[in-house]
Amino acid sequence: FTNFDADVSKPRYVRVNTLKVDVESAVLELRKQFMVQKDDMVPDLLVLPPGCDLHDHPLVKNGSVFLQGKASSMVAAALAPEPGWKVLDACSAPGNKTVHLAAFMKGKGKIIACELNKERVKRLEETIRLSGAASILPFFFFDLLDAMKLNYLHFAWLVDIEVLNGDFLKLDPKDPAYSEVRAILLDPSCSGSGTAADRLDHLLPSHTAVFLPDASSSADHCHAADMTDPERLKKLAAFQKKALEHALSFPAVERIVYSTCSIHQTENEDVVQSVLPLAISYGFQLATPFPQWHRRGLPVFEGSEHLLRTDVVEDKEGFFIALFVRKTMILAKGN
Ligand code: SAM
Repeated sequence: FTNFDADVSKPRYVRVNTLKVDVESAVLELRKQFMVQKDDMVPDLLVLPPGCDLHDHPLVKNGSVFLQGKASSMVAAALAPEPGWKVLDACSAPGNKTVHLAAFMKGKGKIIACELNKERVKRLEETIRLSGAASILPFFFFDLLDAMKLNYLHFAWLVDIEVLNGDFLKLDPKDPAYSEVRAILLDPSCSGSGTAADRLDHLLPSHTAVFLPDASSSADHCHAADMTDPERLKKLAAFQKKALEHALSFPAVERIVYSTCSIHQTENEDVVQSVLPLAISYGFQLATPFPQWHRRGLPVFEGSEHLLRTDVVEDKEGFFIALFVRKTMILAKGN
């Protein structure tokens, strides 16, 4: 192997950007240099030996693969939006999960990527540009591609992602622009306690500036600087709860994924538990993302076994995922 870096304790994950290259081609290319395995859970995720440094690899530089951890890659995969859907990424910068959603949608449909922080919108736009997913084209264009039996991969840059620089909490669910949103990815600002700052740079290509959290604000940044201050955690949890309640109120939403890179129950199980009565009243239930995964939510309420956790030590990063699915719609579809 070549290009080792200092951290030799954890495998390196790369997510193949299937908007640009298929998984098999990426494996073949990377195997010229590294030992590569496919991840056993996320279909477009590859596992490389610990210590491999891919920051300057041409596939990373040209957006064919993204340096994205396993837990982070599980979020869009848990939501699994279908091609043709309208999807809202509520807190989207720097956009790793936005472009993963676009890949799941195979070039068909629309993503609205909302981001409050103006500076971070630039990062989001850069990620979208790098991924090849951009532009605005009508749905019938993709039907035309199908009819002509053309491979969407060649046209994947036509996925429609609309970047919205604004506050997710202020989006009006009754606005016709959102009345057809069928899935929401909510990955709000959190304490970041599951992803130490020194690991963040492994998740970002070297040509993007590493975002280092600012201690001065609560909800407008990705990670708050003090990861354990109870007051700060309380503020973050209040924002997370409000955002989740807001997501639940979109009329056509069938799936909502809520995720954090926090290890704290306050930001994870407690937030989910606090919105459950409302979620149930809207017809949602908790679904079980990746049922084969052994580490589930802390047993603090009935149903927490549906939640997914990764462990900061054993899995090398601490993430939390909850998946809400609208029950009435499952029944309506006869599933
Ligand atoms: N999902 C992103 C990814 O995987 O690349 C990471 C999102 S980061 C955890 C949370 C983001 O939410 C930050 O960029 C933050 O600026 C943004 N944010 C915070 N409050 C927001 C709000 N009210 N509306 C929209 N975005 C918000």
